[in-house]
Amino acid sequence: MNPQLLFWIPVTLRLSFILIAAGVLWYFFGPVVGLSAGLLCLIALIVIQLNYLYLLNAWLDHPDSEKLPDGWGAWTDIFSRLYRFRRDDERNSAELTEWLARFRQAMSLLPDGVVIMDDVLFLEWCNPAAEQHLGLSNLRDKGMRVTNLIRNPDFIDYIILGRYEQPLTLSLRDRKLIVQIIPFENRRQILVTHDVTEAERIEMMRRDFIANASHELRTPLTVINGFLEIAQSQPDLDQAVRMSHLKLMIEQGQRMQNLVEDMLTLTRLESIDYPLRPEHVSIHHLLDQIRQEAEALSGGRHAISLTIDGPDIEGSTDELRSAFSNLVSNAVRYTPEGGRIDIKWKNTETGPQFSVKDSGIGIRPEHIVRLTERFYRVDKSRSRETQGTGPGLAIVKHVLLRHGAVLAIESQPEMGSTFIVKFPQDSNNKTSFVN
Ligand code: ADP
Repeated sequence: MNPQLLFWIPVTLRLSFILIAAGVLWYFFGPVVGLSAGLLCLIALIVIQLNYLYLLNAWLDHPDSEKLPDGWGAWTDIFSRLYRFRRDDERNSAELTEWLARFRQAMSLLPDGVVIMDDVLFLEWCNPAAEQHLGLSNLRDKGMRVTNLIRNPDFIDYIILGRYEQPLTLSLRDRKLIVQIIPFENRRQILVTHDVTEAERIEMMRRDFIANASHELRTPLTVINGFLEIAQSQPDLDQAVRMSHLKLMIEQGQRMQNLVEDMLTLTRLESIDYPLRPEHVSIHHLLDQIRQEAEALSGGRHAISLTIDGPDIEGSTDELRSAFSNLVSNAVRYTPEGGRIDIKWKNTETGPQFSVKDSGIGIRPEHIVRLTERFYRVDKSRSRETQGTGPGLAIVKHVLLRHGAVLAIESQPEMGSTFIVKFPQDSNNKTSFVN
């Protein structure tokens, strides 16, 4: 039925009833009684309406669906409709709160930063990634102008020029960020930040790798070409001189071969398509071979010791040989004549350990973290002098990774270095290896 009718019918009925009752009283007891009774009924009706108005007013101050009073007459319908509106409102606002919480959680998991600003760049909200990237704080900086918070000249220029269709590359707080402003909803703007520090680092390493590898190959090639040109232009060169040139060419050729082999090994190790096939590794046999090679490389210039006090393990003998002999040959190459080199294999509480301790030139702390990058050198000329090809420690890192082992380096300049390889406790169990 029409709600207007629903409202007016009871009202009309009630007023008609009062009028009829007053008329009947008038008829039987005279006009004074009839009019007084009608007036009293009207006053009672007004008081009741005022009371409901008062209750409605009080409820509107603190609207809570549970505290809505029961009505009388037309008020019953008014209150029950208000109750329904209130319940719908409560449900909508609960849904909205839940949706907002979900949205905030999703935003807080985003690796990219999101800042919501108004049209004059006052901060309204930002996610944790934006706090980290831009040094903002959602609580502290809310309502502040973003250009007062990010005082980077490139960023300010970007805002002034307003060419928001292009992203901006920004160096901020030791990070490389791609920043872009996207206007939305007429009076709002979103600032999005994407951290490319790691991608830039990898790109730089890739560029360095190509430059270093080319450089390493070019040096021996230049030497070989030089000697070949001499041989061509001076066919009657003294036999002894020719022999020494040939010897140097063979050495340089060997150097190139070692480098290419190292690079191939590294590529193979980095490839996920190349799984590790663990086998029994006889540590005694392996380390004895490595010690003999070290003796040969040293040519009696160092005192080399080998102590074995630990179990054999499961792994790839060839890969471990390559890693261990890299560490041992580095120790020989970076230890001046007369120094000591101690090779040890022992069992510890956390698992077997291989270590090479030398009394050589040592390494400054700032270089230690970068040593396992391909071709990273502390001193380029010294490395070349000592026949280093460059990818040695990068190979070690990859071999160890595939064996679930880690490399620890303890070193001090002029005091020598110790390279420790820590294998996991269950290194005689094949399942611990990384493929
Ligand atoms: P390289 O072929 O140049 O020796 P590596 O990857 O084997 O390359 O080693 C990287 C760098 O680490 C070397 O250039 C050298 O500066 C430093 N290094 C490695 N081992 C030692 C060591 N035992 N003592 C001092 N420096 C070392």
